[in-house]
Amino acid sequence: MHIKRENINAIGLGYGELALKGKNRGTFEGNIKQRINNKLINFDAKLVNDLSKLYVYTNESNNENLIGELKKIFGINNMNFSVMVESEERCIKQKIEDISNELYQEGARTFKIEVNRANKKFEKNSMDFAKELGAHVLINTEFTKVSMKNPDVLISLDIREKTYIYTEKINTYGGLPLGSSGNGLSLISGGIDSPVASFLMAKRGLKLEYVTFHSFPFTSKKALVKIEELVKILSEYNGKSKFYSMNILPIQQAINEKTNKEYATILTRRAMMRLSEMLVKKNNLKALVTGESLGQVASQTLEGLNCTSNAVEKTVVFRPLISIDKIEIIEKAKEIGTYEKSIEPHDDSCAMFAPKHPNTKPSIEKILIEESKIENYDEILLEIFNNKKMVLVK
Ligand code: ATP
Ligand code: MG
Repeated sequence: MHIKRENINAIGLGYGELALKGKNRGTFEGNIKQRINNKLINFDAKLVNDLSKLYVYTNESNNENLIGELKKIFGINNMNFSVMVESEERCIKQKIEDISNELYQEGARTFKIEVNRANKKFEKNSMDFAKELGAHVLINTEFTKVSMKNPDVLISLDIREKTYIYTEKINTYGGLPLGSSGNGLSLISGGIDSPVASFLMAKRGLKLEYVTFHSFPFTSKKALVKIEELVKILSEYNGKSKFYSMNILPIQQAINEKTNKEYATILTRRAMMRLSEMLVKKNNLKALVTGESLGQVASQTLEGLNCTSNAVEKTVVFRPLISIDKIEIIEKAKEIGTYEKSIEPHDDSCAMFAPKHPNTKPSIEKILIEESKIENYDEILLEIFNNKKMVLVK
């Protein structure tokens, strides 16, 4: 049982780890406020700082879209749905009485009142005032019972410049404010995994650019559009993003012509990593992100991952899904809204040249020998890199 959403006029936003961040707190907070304000543009709502806690004052608290948008802001850990009143005893008591009546009607029979007093100008201390309010409810409403241990409803008060009364508090994603950890490049394909990996790293404060590799005209424009749409979904969390595409057909053809078939997949993955690192250097980014998960497919064995990593010289590669089961990845994809798009059929640049019997335990030595068979390897990569395309997605 909760205060009805239609009666809510302020949404309290709680920081998670941000509260621990000491001297960077100011910058982080500024970043979060800007994100919130961007999200509020389309709603009848405004952001207010009340004694260091953020509130969204709104007449649209019943609007799931507004709440959905606020949930997408990393660095916010929880949200409470409050009724805001003046910080005056008389107003507070009246409101508590109204709310209690409403909750009793909904079926609550026991209650507890909890007070947090951030505003020290308010004379009564939190313990005394909580008791006084409890007595007020017992005298003035149909409630006859307080339960300290297991109340049907917990009524919380936050006394600040204004006073906020709530019964409903939910946890949100948490994480760190967007970009507070720096900038990275996510390798995104049309599958289920890489969008989830991108989300998880963005959640840790990494502002992402995206790159995808296609083999046009052997892969379709439609596949590229699909990936752009995935980036668009991610940009709701990650802000406006640069989305690069590179046509890797030239290197796939060279691999196909010159090297042993069983290594084609790993060699292609290495080329992708190299091209990605070139972009990292050019755009002054600091990390790569992939959707690899140990053991999931033939190229994601330990040996395969070593060969892929070895193609990257100086950049840390984040694989946030490395230990996560497919079922959990799918659940996460559904939760963040990328799953439905990911499962739309698409053609994959890797699939086309994929060997029937890939080597699942390639050694780096063997791979380097195979790669050296392509004499103009660097020139081919440079040509691919120079032909890259970029669009801004928001
Ligand atoms: P996904 O579900 O993300 O497509 P996957 O399970 O198909 O991943 P792989 O094809 O082995 O796995 O790819 C592993 C990772 O390499 C992907 O998660 C992605 O980060 C990157 N990757 C693979 N193919 C591409 C591509 N065509 N463009 C960009 N990145 C790619
Ligand atoms: Mg894939």
